[in-house]
Amino acid sequence: MPTTTHDLIIIGGGIAGRFCAWNATNRGLRTLLLDPDDARASAAWASGGMLAPVAEGLTGGLLEIGLAARAAWPDAIRRLQQQSATPLTLDHGIVVPLAPETSRAPMAGYLEQMRARADIVMLGDEPDALPAQAGFERAALVRDEFVVAPRAVLAALAQATADSVEVVRDKAEQIRVVSGAVHVEGTAAAYTGRSVVVCAGHRAGLIRGLEPFLPGTVTGERGALLYVRSDNRPPWTIFDHGLTGVTYLVPTDDGYRIGATADPEDRCRTVRPEEIDLLLSRAASLWHDPGAEVVEAVAGARPVGPLTTGEPLVGPLDPDRRIWGLLGMHRNGILFSPFLADKLIEKVAVCLSS
Ligand SMILES: Cc1cc2nc3c(=O)[nH]c(=O)nc-3n(C[C@H](O)[C@H](O)[C@H](O)COP(=O)(O)OP(=O)(O)OC[C@H]3O[C@@H](n4cnc5c(N)ncnc54)[C@H](O)[C@@H]3O)c2cc1C
Repeated sequence: MPTTTHDLIIIGGGIAGRFCAWNATNRGLRTLLLDPDDARASAAWASGGMLAPVAEGLTGGLLEIGLAARAAWPDAIRRLQQQSATPLTLDHGIVVPLAPETSRAPMAGYLEQMRARADIVMLGDEPDALPAQAGFERAALVRDEFVVAPRAVLAALAQATADSVEVVRDKAEQIRVVSGAVHVEGTAAAYTGRSVVVCAGHRAGLIRGLEPFLPGTVTGERGALLYVRSDNRPPWTIFDHGLTGVTYLVPTDDGYRIGATADPEDRCRTVRPEEIDLLLSRAASLWHDPGAEVVEAVAGARPVGPLTTGEPLVGPLDPDRRIWGLLGMHRNGILFSPFLADKLIEKVAVCLSS
């Protein structure tokens, strides 16, 4: 089997792996990225792209990470645009419907928290500011939260690292640390590096040799997303904490994305017709658009665990600091990735240079 030697082997080319690779190569680390699939297999491909820790209602440690990550995005986008020559935008403004209390999750504490953490305008107090045909009477506009197009970000990361990161279409089957080096056995070849970063999303637990270093299990929570073509786009992202779950509408160039949580037990990447109907009906309760045309339906698995706190696991996994992980970013992996990947790779680089 062919063997290659790198400073860093990154397992998984989703948003976490791609941001790690970008940071690693910017720090001069010789980097290899392994993934058996293209970006379409990653959760980011099915993601809404909201960078909205406050509108999401994050609390505690997740909120702290989310606020720091939100602050890191504008600079990440600026640098990524420069390096990839790809136009990227951060769209501001997320509308959160708030009333009536009886039909939505309890909102009082949530609203207080939003006010303390973000620039909020109460749209119910300014009726003219609400889109006339919106299906709610009272809402908060969170002005300083963003949305990105995750597929464009993945493409820009691939472009920015095209000449500096070696990308191999292979699946990591096993990790072993031998004599201070990391050996990754893939399906097609074996690879040797000084360190490895595991960014394999909800499949991380399937890599042999890694499990003893994980503090808990890694699973996936399925979510589904529709791409809709329409002349009647909402003017802002609408993000609803409904009783039956979260639903959001994100404007795009030619319509909008509709996202929601689907059955967590389901592993299927195909979105069934009844799911599409459900998503459309939940979206219709927020935005009246009889002409909406579904052009794509896609499902992905948000990585859950391995920490019971619900926070992502980011840092060294083994005592010798050869195996590192960025895992369990769950609902907020797009938001968290640039910030956490930067912090993680900074530590890996220090460790490699010492
Ligand atoms: C419907 C939906 C909507 C979402 N909306 C948002 C949102 O609005 N905002 C937000 O911040 N987050 C959102 N998320 C969550 C976000 O998409 C995820 O948290 C994030 O994409 C996880 O990234 P990851 O790189 O850790 O994992 P993944 O994206 O799952 O990537 C893992 C990669 O590892 C590869 N891999 C797996 N096993 C191996 C192996 N053994 N060897 C090599 N490669 C391997 C896979 O092929 C994959 O490419 C959403 C998710 C879904 C599903």
